[in-house]
Parts: sequence; structure tokens; C-alpha cells
Amino acid sequence: METLIPKPKDYAPEIDQAANLLAQSRFAVAFTGAGLSTRSGIPDFRSPGTGLWTRVDGIPESGTIQGFGKNPQAFYTWFRTFTRTILEAHPNAAHIALSLLEAMGYIRAVITQNADMLHQRAGSQHVLEVHGSLAEATCIQCYTTVDARQLLAHFVEDGQVPRCEHCGGVMKPNVILTNEQLPARVMLAAKQAVRECDLILTAGTSLTGGPATGLAEFALDQGAELVIVNLTPTIFDSAAQVVINADVSEVLPAIVETLRYLSMNKEKSHE
Ligand code: ZN
Repeated sequence: METLIPKPKDYAPEIDQAANLLAQSRFAVAFTGAGLSTRSGIPDFRSPGTGLWTRVDGIPESGTIQGFGKNPQAFYTWFRTFTRTILEAHPNAAHIALSLLEAMGYIRAVITQNADMLHQRAGSQHVLEVHGSLAEATCIQCYTTVDARQLLAHFVEDGQVPRCEHCGGVMKPNVILTNEQLPARVMLAAKQAVRECDLILTAGTSLTGGPATGLAEFALDQGAELVIVNLTPTIFDSAAQVVINADVSEVLPAIVETLRYLSMNKEKSHE
């Protein structure tokens, strides 16, 4: 319902404030979640606080790493619809705004809980996928890792469980399932970025579950400023400098526009 979503114009002062904070920041990073991709037609499969993909209708075990090991066919049957949705999705204005913020020099990295590759497709260069990515798949027997894009497109067509070219083992997409460890190298890089940042712009995440709460707490402990853009309130709102409860695909482009305006005026004042 359109009317339930506050229009960004109701948040004009907050958008200005967020843009000013980004302009003053020395090192800012963005942190994104499922809410960033809902406008691209990708539903949020996560239940807050319980990790990735626990809400698999009818097959509760399929979203867990144990369920995958026991019955990869059940996982893939469910995963087929999800994969098709992702392969057909396009980045929306929020993804594009974040890639522009990076290109304009306002943010250094995007840390994301999404595995849908839409940040990269929107042009973001430095993306840290803390819940893994659909871009690669690994054999659960011999650990051979391959580019998953062709493999998944094939799988969406025929529905057959993808198998390893070398040993015939089941290929698992490199997305983090429930009860599976987070990717250590990416988590380390994400923590490093958060350690160095003086501003964290969170978008489309309730900041609960998985590594989100920990990373947000870590950022605040380091003295970083917090700008939150999310449709609904989060547990970190009281600690944030700016909170905008509105659609990320409207707010983030508005922040980009404000920054463009600010930098144009700055250039003019130097002329
Ligand atoms: Zn293999």
C-alpha cells in the first residue's frame, strides 16, 4: 500500500543530514540487507535472528547445512524458484545509488548480507558478501570451486542437482546456509572495513541476525557514526545520528542527488 510508506520528502532534513555526514566522513562503508533487494522482486527469506533461509515452507531442514548434506535434492527443489527469481532480477535504484556513492568517493565498500550479486551488477566494485554469494559453487566431496552462473542457469532449466565435473559430487552454491560458518576471509575484511570507518550507512537491514548486530555494535564501539535507512525501526535507532524509515530505493538516490548538489555548490564557491 503506497500510503503506508512515508515519502522521502517527509524526510528532507534527514536526507540533507545524511548527505552532510557522508560529505564530512573520512571513511564510510555501507551495510545492506534483504530490504535492498525487495524492490528488485527478491523476497526476504530470512526470519530475523535465525540466520539465512530458515523459512522454507514445508521443508524446514532444507535451508540448513545439515539438511543440504542429507537431502540435496530437497534443497535444490526449493532453491530452484529462488535461483530463477535472482537470475531474472535487476538492480534497483538503491543498488545503483550505492555504486554511485562509491564512484563519487563517498563510500569505500559495501558489506552485504545478500547473496544475489545485484550490488556487483549495479557497478559496485568493493563488495563484501558476508552470507556468501551465488557467483560460485563448491563440490562437497573434493572442494573444487567453480563459477556458478552457468551451472545455475543450467540447473534452473533442467532441475537436476548440479554435479562436480571431476568427482561427480554434489555442488553446493557458496551461499551460507543456516548453521553453516560465515566465510572467514570475507568476515575479516568486513571487520577491517568497519574498524577503519568513521561512518556506517546501513540500508535495508533490520540489523538483527547473522553478523549484522555484531558488525553494527563493533562500528559503534569504534566511535563510528551511524545512518540508518530502513522501512521499519531497528534496535540501533537510538544510537544513530540519522534514522530514515522509508523506501531505500527512494532515499538513497535522494542522498546521491543531495551530494551532487553540495559538491556543485562547493565548486561554484571556489570559482
Ligand atoms: Zn568434486
